[in-house]
Amino acid sequence: MLDVFITVDVEIWCDGWKDLDQKFPDAFRKYVYGPTPRGDYGLSRHVDILDSHGLTGVFFVEPLFATRFGVDPLREIVAMIREQRQEVQLHLHTEWVDESRVPLLDKVEGKRQHLRYFTLEEQTILIDKGRELLHEAGAPTINAFRAGSFAFNRDTLRALATLGIPFDSSYNACLLGPDSGVAPGEVLLEPIECEGVYEYPMTIFSDGVGGHRHAQLSACSYRELEGLLWRALENGYRSFVLLSHNFELLNRGKTRPDSVVVRRLEKLCAFLDRNRDCFNVRGFHGLTPNLSTAQPKPLPSAGWKTAERILEQFYRRRYR
Ligand SMILES: [Zn+2]
Repeated sequence: MLDVFITVDVEIWCDGWKDLDQKFPDAFRKYVYGPTPRGDYGLSRHVDILDSHGLTGVFFVEPLFATRFGVDPLREIVAMIREQRQEVQLHLHTEWVDESRVPLLDKVEGKRQHLRYFTLEEQTILIDKGRELLHEAGAPTINAFRAGSFAFNRDTLRALATLGIPFDSSYNACLLGPDSGVAPGEVLLEPIECEGVYEYPMTIFSDGVGGHRHAQLSACSYRELEGLLWRALENGYRSFVLLSHNFELLNRGKTRPDSVVVRRLEKLCAFLDRNRDCFNVRGFHGLTPNLSTAQPKPLPSAGWKTAERILEQFYRRRYR
């Protein structure tokens, strides 16, 4: 049995940092509901599709925007996720730190994009603040964290341990993971314990053209994802961590659904629902860590699946 984590990073962006207060209501509507002539395809559709297959996804919600615009919009997001039996966990984009109405730190000097740019003490304050906001918004049990842009470091895990948050899922071997100071000299593909926290790394695979990619809903074809899941099971993997975002079911302009990705999520959920004896789709609540003693190799990707992905991506670019 393979534990599968369908993780969805939930965040709102206002297309730059000017006129934020004016732009926020429209940004919120787009990112959370995503209205299109064919219906809503934002976060609301994501939770609907998972719930309609009886699956629980992990929604890593970015709450720091509420230090600018108040807790009510965050409450709306949390209610939407929890009402459909999905899990709310904590995501943090430090780009919001200098936009807060009340200073979050003693010294805030402009924008610092990544959590890893902050000291241990500052990271601890910011993560604690994010959790407090989610509590206030109606998410009482936060036990997992993911840094914005996967830009964490070892201090992030120390901060989480201090705050009693036992799980992290910020390690991405294709991005800043190898530079995080966590397991130096090793590429993490399976859960380990570090600094008193259980790290659940993103699942990565060989892309068939000489590099590696992480498993992401909008960047892998359906057949490729299905193949990767079977291969992870065959190779004795203990966990599979898939990435998505609240806006991945929309086209880039957020005006129309991306029908290829919508179909892909529906097919993936139907597949996981049919194969519950092999794949245990779950969240971090109630999780007993199943740690690996040795790190496996990245999953291979079959050539024809890579070709199919490239074709699908081409189709989306052309018709989005
Ligand atoms: Zn993010």
